[in-house]
Amino acid sequence: MDIVVIGSLNMDMVVRSGRAPEAGETVIGDSFVLSAGGKGANQAVAAARLGSTVRLVGKVGADAFGSELLEIIKQEGIDSEYLSVSGSRSTGVASIVLEESGENRIIVVPGANMELTADDIQLLEPVITGAKLLVMQLEMDLHMTEQAVGIAHASGIPVILNPAPAQRLSDELLSHVTYLTPNETEAGILSGVQVDNLDSAREAAAVLLRKGVQNVIMTLGAQGALIVNSQGQIHVPGFPVKAVVDTVAAGDSFNGALAQQLTAGRSLEEAVTFANAVGALAVGKAGAIPSLPTLAEVEQFLERADSVR
Ligand code: AMP
Repeated sequence: MDIVVIGSLNMDMVVRSGRAPEAGETVIGDSFVLSAGGKGANQAVAAARLGSTVRLVGKVGADAFGSELLEIIKQEGIDSEYLSVSGSRSTGVASIVLEESGENRIIVVPGANMELTADDIQLLEPVITGAKLLVMQLEMDLHMTEQAVGIAHASGIPVILNPAPAQRLSDELLSHVTYLTPNETEAGILSGVQVDNLDSAREAAAVLLRKGVQNVIMTLGAQGALIVNSQGQIHVPGFPVKAVVDTVAAGDSFNGALAQQLTAGRSLEEAVTFANAVGALAVGKAGAIPSLPTLAEVEQFLERADSVR
């Protein structure tokens, strides 16, 4: 197995409405879409579409959403041996209301995602140590995440930790991370340095390196990404996108691509350049999983970008 992703699976329930209701009010909405997601699932699918062998470890509920998510994961050729079904909690869901004004209101119920515990991870030690790379995010139990990252670190298995959604992390956890991939907001919360340009991004990354992270790869939206490690720093510019459709799963596509490239033996700079191309393709298409490109699509995109340069 190239990559083990331990991460969340969620069903997004997206309602579009002129406006959100007040307390006690009912309004008639415009449309409803169900879409599969969860950062773990998105990142696993991103890496699998690019050609990696991927195993996803996680939990869903014993309900229709859980069955659908398991089916999607299997259809993508991802190993689901360690995806289990909770006896008591629902599948993770995100209830999203998009208002005409562009405002959104989101309630996430993590449900079964939170049921994977540090004790479960102890039993999964051979699964982690048998992979070339571990990929994790922060949508599950934090103690479990610390345990898993600690096991990988102790066995010399590199770890990509995508610190999303943003929260503060212990220095011990950070010191076990090989590649930390915050966006600007997450880097700000983790480092205490507000990031709003390249200089402050470098400053925040320096704080994170001092906490023991080996490589900080900060994603910068249209600006691409910044690599900072003990050898120095490189800003890898993003690819121009004429029409941004939505930025859903841009970060997830970037992380999946980074994992695929690193396990394929690419240098960090090559991997980040490729991941920027994957992120650019993902923002040009709607949705999370439907927006994730295949290897052939990325190669075509890179050829075109080369001929333009
Ligand atoms: P973000 O989480 O917004 O920093 O985005 C993750 C990655 O997706 C970035 O590092 C870029 O590679 C890519 N990306 C995001 N937004 C854009 C954009 N507007 N144009 C081109 N690439 C983008």
